Amino acid sequence: MKVRFYGVRGSVPTPGSRTVRYGGNTVCVDVRLADGTVLILDGGTGIRELGAELVKQELHRAPLHVLLTHLHWDHILGLPFFAPVYRKESVIRIHPLGTDLQQIALRDRKLFDGVHFPIRAADLPAHFDFIESSMEDQRIGSAVIRRIALNHPGGAQGYRIDDADGKSLCYLTDNELSPPGPVTTSLDALARFSEEADLVIHDAQYLDEDMPTKHGWGHSTIDDVLRLGSKASAKHLVLFHHDPERDDDALDHIGHRANEWLREKGSSTRASVAREGWSLDL
Ligand SMILES: [Zn+2]
Ligand SMILES: [Zn+2]
Repeated sequence: MKVRFYGVRGSVPTPGSRTVRYGGNTVCVDVRLADGTVLILDGGTGIRELGAELVKQELHRAPLHVLLTHLHWDHILGLPFFAPVYRKESVIRIHPLGTDLQQIALRDRKLFDGVHFPIRAADLPAHFDFIESSMEDQRIGSAVIRRIALNHPGGAQGYRIDDADGKSLCYLTDNELSPPGPVTTSLDALARFSEEADLVIHDAQYLDEDMPTKHGWGHSTIDDVLRLGSKASAKHLVLFHHDPERDDDALDHIGHRANEWLREKGSSTRASVAREGWSLDL
């Protein structure tokens, strides 16, 4: 399995000199399965560059599987600028969302209603397949995909991707591991879901000092994410969905501190801070 980060920022794009090393595009991750199937996790502004790359490599002709966590702007803002939607030979499979409300909005393609964007859904040349809603395990290409409901206002879903070559990836954003109200899925349940995954990508937007003002906003503190990664015995934990206020130096510091924390706890998990343009071969 190959993974490439095209966008790692949460909430809103953050271009500029203070974010140039980690990147300012909002969330989008490209996953290539062992059999070459293309999975796209979220459609934030990072998907624009991925789309250009897919067209250049002529991969837009193969079905492209889009797996969204939810429909907040930072996860869909790049979709109108995803080059394959303007190619009649593209086949884009949109996989189901976690709630009925989100699923209706997705099927209605409200981004392309002529109000939010000048081009309407009916005028897009690509062929779109909307896969029926299901929380059951699903096979895509060489992998089995599992979903889990996350703790996020309005709902979000996470994914576990187990590929035929034995490699596994968990994608868990946007998720608050210690929410103030009712818990949709506990930290323990998420640790079981992510158990011994090769790569766990998790929302790590906040620091302890950002709370309590941001408690309940649907994002986790870095310490909670380290607890999850350690409990799951994840091989590699990637801190993701960076706060717009976090500049490159702050993210360097977070990466350093995260690995110190894991070492102090005797954890075998290692941590990295997600960076735009970073590729991994699992
Ligand atoms: Zn988000
Ligand atoms: Zn969100």
